Amino acid sequence: MDEFDLIARYFDWPARRPEVVLAVGDDAAVIDPPADSRLVVTTDMLVAGRHFPPDTAPEDIAHKALAVNLSDLAAMGAEPLGFTLSLGLAETDSDWLSRFAARLRGVAERWGCDLIGGDTVGSSVLTLSVTAFGTLPPGKIIARSGAQAGDRLAVTGFIGDAALGLVVAQDPVAVPEALGTAAREYLRRRLDGPEPRLAAGRALLGRASAGLDCSDGLLQDIGHLLDASGLGAEIDLSAVPVSPAASDWLDARPEDIDRMITGGDDYELIVALPQGMEVDPELGLTVIGRLVDGPVGQIRERHGRSLPTRRGYTHFPSED
Ligand SMILES: [Mg+2]
Repeated sequence: MDEFDLIARYFDWPARRPEVVLAVGDDAAVIDPPADSRLVVTTDMLVAGRHFPPDTAPEDIAHKALAVNLSDLAAMGAEPLGFTLSLGLAETDSDWLSRFAARLRGVAERWGCDLIGGDTVGSSVLTLSVTAFGTLPPGKIIARSGAQAGDRLAVTGFIGDAALGLVVAQDPVAVPEALGTAAREYLRRRLDGPEPRLAAGRALLGRASAGLDCSDGLLQDIGHLLDASGLGAEIDLSAVPVSPAASDWLDARPEDIDRMITGGDDYELIVALPQGMEVDPELGLTVIGRLVDGPVGQIRERHGRSLPTRRGYTHFPSED
């Protein structure tokens, strides 16, 4: 099967969004963004053996490759429009490709995002690169900078499930024995099938003073917001929202809270909420602390302990 057959067979389905004038099959895609909107672009690469175990199901790889990019759009408050996919494949396994493409199409349609182009190459290691495009209305943006001292720091959903899901996937003997099958499956699902917080991001646009998605670990990502906004933070670790499965885990092994606030792959949003802004319960936000003047980038636990912001997933580990 050559590259053209492969694309025609697995990756050429009709675009649904009216803004997409030309998608897969031409020399380039053509998009007609809504008048006055701003284009938001993000890209993220996944490499087998580094970002996911090589035996991960193709459905999970497809889901995650798109979800992590849409999570970045969600963090900006953007609405997704389309994405490109570049695939480095070790082999053209038709079962793998059809399962991968079916899930990719399913999640793309669910999140209102069209596949508009891409490329395939032969590669010794399975590699995926997705570039996602979204739009923002004029004058509005959620950036990492812009938070003010006194703003509350809040997160969506639950933190730390994916870090525990990674233990379930890679080191099952380290999972507390009392943890049932349903809890194990839930944690694994949270690692493999993150849900980009697109609705929350859009609802927070024009309201949150700053924000980003939590991909490299809660403390490290809060650190990014603090650095960009020139602030410190005071957080209450006991307020960090944890799922029922994670709560059961912590009952058996309380020290694993450390793993949960430094591990990556949560894909929840971390936002700064201005004083006086009402927190709509439908957004699923939990306030975990506040932003303070003071040593920039430093996170203090409410009860005095200073928390490191530099731990978390690092792509290029350094000596410091
Ligand atoms: Mg991000």
